[in-house]
Amino acid sequence: MVTLSVSTSNRVESQDITHLISQEISSNNWDDGILTIYCPHTTGAITINESADPDVVKDMTMEMNNIVPFDDGYLHSEGNSAAHIKSSLIGCSETVIVENGNTVLGTWQGVYFAEFDGPRTRKVLLKFVNNK
Ligand code: ZN
Repeated sequence: MVTLSVSTSNRVESQDITHLISQEISSNNWDDGILTIYCPHTTGAITINESADPDVVKDMTMEMNNIVPFDDGYLHSEGNSAAHIKSSLIGCSETVIVENGNTVLGTWQGVYFAEFDGPRTRKVLLKFVNNK
Protein backbone atom coordinates (compact mmCIF):
# COMPACT_ATOMS: atom_id res chain seq x y z
CA MET A 1 0.00 0.00 0.00
CA VAL A 2 1.15 3.53 -0.78
CA THR A 3 0.17 6.62 1.21
CA LEU A 4 -0.07 9.96 -0.56
CA SER A 5 -0.09 13.26 1.30
CA VAL A 6 -2.44 15.96 0.03
CA SER A 7 -2.51 19.47 1.47
CA THR A 8 -5.31 21.95 0.91
CA SER A 9 -5.53 25.67 1.61
CA ASN A 10 -9.30 26.18 1.80
CA ARG A 11 -12.20 24.94 3.92
CA VAL A 12 -13.74 23.18 0.92
CA GLU A 13 -11.44 22.35 -1.96
CA SER A 14 -10.92 19.61 -4.53
CA GLN A 15 -7.48 18.79 -5.88
CA ASP A 16 -6.68 16.84 -9.01
CA ILE A 17 -4.41 14.01 -7.80
CA THR A 18 -4.22 12.12 -11.10
CA HIS A 19 -0.55 13.04 -11.62
CA LEU A 20 0.36 11.80 -8.11
CA ILE A 21 -1.34 8.49 -8.85
CA SER A 22 0.43 8.18 -12.21
CA GLN A 23 3.78 8.81 -10.50
CA GLU A 24 3.13 5.96 -8.04
CA ILE A 25 2.01 3.60 -10.82
CA SER A 26 5.27 4.32 -12.62
CA SER A 27 7.64 4.20 -9.62
CA ASN A 28 6.08 0.97 -8.28
CA ASN A 29 5.98 -0.69 -11.72
CA TRP A 30 2.27 -1.38 -11.44
CA ASP A 31 1.44 -2.75 -14.86
CA ASP A 32 -1.99 -4.37 -15.21
CA GLY A 33 -4.59 -4.58 -12.49
CA ILE A 34 -7.01 -2.70 -10.29
CA LEU A 35 -6.10 0.32 -8.19
CA THR A 36 -8.23 1.42 -5.27
CA ILE A 37 -7.86 5.06 -4.23
CA TYR A 38 -9.12 5.45 -0.68
CA CYS A 39 -9.59 8.42 1.65
CA PRO A 40 -9.37 7.33 5.33
CA HIS A 41 -10.97 10.53 6.66
CA THR A 42 -14.60 11.20 7.58
CA THR A 43 -14.65 14.71 6.11
CA GLY A 44 -12.80 14.06 2.85
CA ALA A 45 -13.71 12.15 -0.30
CA ILE A 46 -12.46 10.77 -3.60
CA THR A 47 -14.21 11.37 -6.90
CA ILE A 48 -13.59 11.17 -10.63
CA ASN A 49 -14.72 14.05 -12.81
CA GLU A 50 -13.64 16.50 -15.49
CA SER A 51 -10.07 17.69 -15.23
CA ALA A 52 -9.88 19.65 -18.49
CA ASP A 53 -11.83 22.74 -17.37
CA PRO A 54 -10.96 23.76 -13.78
CA ASP A 55 -14.28 25.64 -13.57
CA VAL A 56 -16.14 22.32 -13.38
CA VAL A 57 -14.66 21.43 -10.00
CA LYS A 58 -15.19 25.02 -8.80
CA ASP A 59 -18.87 24.73 -9.75
CA MET A 60 -19.11 21.38 -7.98
CA THR A 61 -17.59 22.88 -4.83
CA MET A 62 -19.94 25.88 -4.96
CA GLU A 63 -23.01 23.72 -5.47
CA MET A 64 -22.02 21.24 -2.74
CA ASN A 65 -21.91 24.20 -0.36
CA ASN A 66 -25.40 25.22 -1.52
CA ILE A 67 -26.84 21.73 -1.18
CA VAL A 68 -25.27 21.14 2.24
CA PRO A 69 -25.00 24.45 4.15
CA PHE A 70 -22.24 24.87 6.76
CA ASP A 71 -24.82 25.62 9.45
CA ASP A 72 -28.28 24.04 9.49
CA GLY A 73 -29.09 23.24 13.10
CA TYR A 74 -26.88 20.14 13.09
CA LEU A 75 -26.55 18.13 16.33
CA HIS A 76 -22.90 17.01 16.02
CA SER A 77 -20.97 19.07 18.61
CA GLU A 78 -17.72 19.19 16.63
CA GLY A 79 -19.40 21.68 14.29
CA ASN A 80 -18.43 19.98 11.03
CA SER A 81 -21.55 18.01 10.16
CA ALA A 82 -21.73 19.61 6.72
CA ALA A 83 -18.29 18.14 5.97
CA HIS A 84 -19.34 14.67 7.16
CA ILE A 85 -22.48 14.80 4.99
CA LYS A 86 -20.55 15.94 1.90
CA SER A 87 -18.00 13.16 2.45
CA SER A 88 -20.73 10.53 2.42
CA LEU A 89 -22.48 12.07 -0.59
CA ILE A 90 -19.29 11.86 -2.67
CA GLY A 91 -17.85 8.68 -1.14
CA CYS A 92 -14.45 7.73 0.22
CA SER A 93 -13.02 5.70 -2.65
CA GLU A 94 -12.75 5.12 -6.36
CA THR A 95 -11.41 2.17 -8.32
CA VAL A 96 -9.52 2.61 -11.58
CA ILE A 97 -8.26 0.12 -14.12
CA VAL A 98 -4.50 0.12 -14.70
CA GLU A 99 -3.39 -1.20 -18.06
CA ASN A 100 0.14 -1.16 -19.50
CA GLY A 101 1.25 1.03 -16.60
CA ASN A 102 -1.39 3.72 -17.12
CA THR A 103 -4.72 4.57 -15.56
CA VAL A 104 -7.63 3.89 -17.87
CA LEU A 105 -9.61 7.11 -17.61
CA GLY A 106 -11.83 8.95 -20.05
CA THR A 107 -10.21 11.75 -22.04
CA TRP A 108 -11.62 14.44 -19.77
CA GLN A 109 -11.50 12.55 -16.49
CA GLY A 110 -9.22 13.10 -13.52
CA VAL A 111 -9.14 11.72 -9.99
CA TYR A 112 -9.87 14.27 -7.27
CA PHE A 113 -9.34 14.40 -3.54
CA ALA A 114 -12.13 16.50 -2.04
CA GLU A 115 -11.56 18.30 1.27
CA PHE A 116 -14.66 19.41 3.15
CA ASP A 117 -13.16 20.46 6.49
CA GLY A 118 -9.88 22.10 5.58
CA PRO A 119 -7.40 23.44 5.24
CA ARG A 120 -5.51 20.30 6.26
CA THR A 121 -2.97 17.75 5.17
CA ARG A 122 -4.63 14.41 4.45
CA LYS A 123 -3.73 10.87 3.55
CA VAL A 124 -4.89 9.19 0.37
CA LEU A 125 -4.23 5.44 0.26
CA LEU A 126 -3.47 3.50 -2.90
CA LYS A 127 -3.79 -0.29 -3.04
CA PHE A 128 -2.89 -2.05 -6.27
CA VAL A 129 -4.05 -5.57 -7.08
CA ASN A 130 -2.11 -7.13 -9.92
CA ASN A 131 -4.19 -8.93 -12.51
CA LYS A 132 -1.68 -9.87 -15.15
ZN1 ZN B 1 -17.06 15.78 13.16
